[in-house]
Amino acid sequence: MSVFTPTWLVSAIYTLTPERLAQHGIKAILTDLDNTLIAWNNPDGTPALKRWLHTMQAAGITVMVVSNNKHERIARALATLDLPFVARALKPLPVGIDRAVRQLGLNKSDVVMIGDQLLTDIAAAHTAGVRSILVRPLIESDAWNTRINRFFEGFVLRAMKPLHYQEDLND
Ligand SMILES: [Mg+2]
Repeated sequence: MSVFTPTWLVSAIYTLTPERLAQHGIKAILTDLDNTLIAWNNPDGTPALKRWLHTMQAAGITVMVVSNNKHERIARALATLDLPFVARALKPLPVGIDRAVRQLGLNKSDVVMIGDQLLTDIAAAHTAGVRSILVRPLIESDAWNTRINRFFEGFVLRAMKPLHYQEDLND
């Protein structure tokens, strides 16, 4: 698979169901933090996020955050959500994903990496050898460092087939 071509595209992380993930042998979700799980300017998360996390938890699917941010920032963001996380993941390098998979005691075929950026989240997933899901960024305006990534992402996007976000993994 190409480093930048997501395995799946879905409109938002909340559209994923435990049943569908199980059909694809997915036992744990590794997820980016900013603009994938929470909007960068709304660190508390939404009721939809909390409902979705409860559903995953009830189904025995672990949700672990794999973020390039530093420990303190992620710990603060996840204070109310109480999720395990790997900080300073160095995406697009596979380091953080490798560490997450080891911590979970799973195989790479058991997990999926979800994120909103091709150049970091999706590239890291495929470099690590795990499947990926690209989601639409939760809000359109990005933090300044993400805006730089988006500029370069534009070149990759123009070289690829048009992206069509689905509502479900099997669509
Ligand atoms: Mg992000």
